This record gives sequence, C-alpha cells and structure tokens, in this order.
Amino acid sequence: MYKYETHLHTSETSACANSTGAEMAVKYKEAGYTGIIVTDHFFNGNTTVPRDLPWEERVELFCKGYENAKAKGDEIGLDVYFGFEYTYHGSDFLVYGLDKQWLLDNEKIMGMTLYKFLDHVHACGGRVIHAHPFRDYDYIPMMTFAPHRVDGVEIVNTSHADPSFDERAKMFAEWYNLPVTCGSDAHNTTNRWYGGGVLTERKLTSALDYVDAVIMGEAKIIEKNK
Ligand SMILES: [Zn+2]
Ligand SMILES: [Zn+2]
Repeated sequence: MYKYETHLHTSETSACANSTGAEMAVKYKEAGYTGIIVTDHFFNGNTTVPRDLPWEERVELFCKGYENAKAKGDEIGLDVYFGFEYTYHGSDFLVYGLDKQWLLDNEKIMGMTLYKFLDHVHACGGRVIHAHPFRDYDYIPMMTFAPHRVDGVEIVNTSHADPSFDERAKMFAEWYNLPVTCGSDAHNTTNRWYGGGVLTERKLTSALDYVDAVIMGEAKIIEKNK
C-alpha cells in the first residue's frame, strides 16, 4: 500500500505553522509516506503573505512552502503535490488539481462568493474536499456547507481531540452520499504532527489523481493514532 498525507501546512506560508516545507517532507519520508499534498492557508485564511503586495508577488510567496517541500521531496524520494486551503468565513475547503499559474491568472477568486468560487474551480478542472466540516472551535465564526459543490468530505481529521467533530462529518457525508477521506492538518513535525492521511493500492500521480482515488473509493482512511 502507498501512504499519503492530504492536508498539511508549512511555516513559509501558514502563520500558524512552525516547520518548513523541507522539514515536513523529511518528517513524512521518515514516517513511511509515499507522498504529501501541501495545503497552506490561502489569502482568506491564516497566511504569512502580506495583503498589500501586488497579486503576482503574493502568489509567489504563497507557493514557497510547497516549492521548498517539493525540492526536498525530489532529493529524498517523497512525492510532493500542490493544493491550498481556501477559507470562507472560517470554513475550510481543500482545493486540488490547480497550480501556481492558475492562481496567477485568477486574482478574481478573492471577490467570489463560496458557491461561485467552487463552481469556478470545477470549471477549471480542479477538485474540492470539504475539510473538517464540523470542527467546532471559537475561531470559526460560522459553519458553512456546500454539499453539492464538493467532491468529498474529510471525515477524519487526525488533529481533532474531540471525536464528535469527525462523527458528525461522517453522518454529513452519508447524508449526502459524498466520498470520504482523511487529512491530518499537521502544522509542524512535533506536537502538531498527527499521522493520518490515506492508503492506496496504486501509486498516485498527482493531487487530482488523489481526489479521483477518493471518488472511486480507492483511498483507505488511516484512523487516528494508526
Ligand atoms: Zn493553521
Ligand atoms: Zn488545514
């Protein structure tokens, strides 16, 4: 089986993270993963990228965590793919299958409502996983749902201490008959590193291929502490 982390942050780009992309790559390689998808907080989330720079410079800075992880991954034999975590009033959506050039060309996404954004991502060939939909912390001002505009639901987020968040996410996915997956939301290599992710029988070739595996039911969830 091949092991993948699908949801993680780097300190280059996520203000709440404290390990670099390269450090994260080494940690996952040592833990036996085949690959990782770097999903830093986008400009509507907890980003390190200053808001007052020109768009091109912001995108350039945004991709640093991924690029550093990718360079290290190439060196040590870990597949590293790109994604981003788009936040809408505190609710998080993991976007896969798009790249830096797409971000450079799409400054307009910042002015979109959530549904418009999700439709646009799909029209451009991207895919979306609803991250931890029932996480219930004070930093999230409201829960937002888009069940007809996501390709799957993160029903296990191994960072959660409260099991009810995942139990509700499982019910939500069943209710709407949505594909299910797992991510960890790791923010460093030590006290905010949780294991988790998915197992697949075939080697994945891209972040888009990962979501395809989820849709096909080929991505086996790694439960917490496993
Ligand atoms: Zn964070
Ligand atoms: Zn996250």
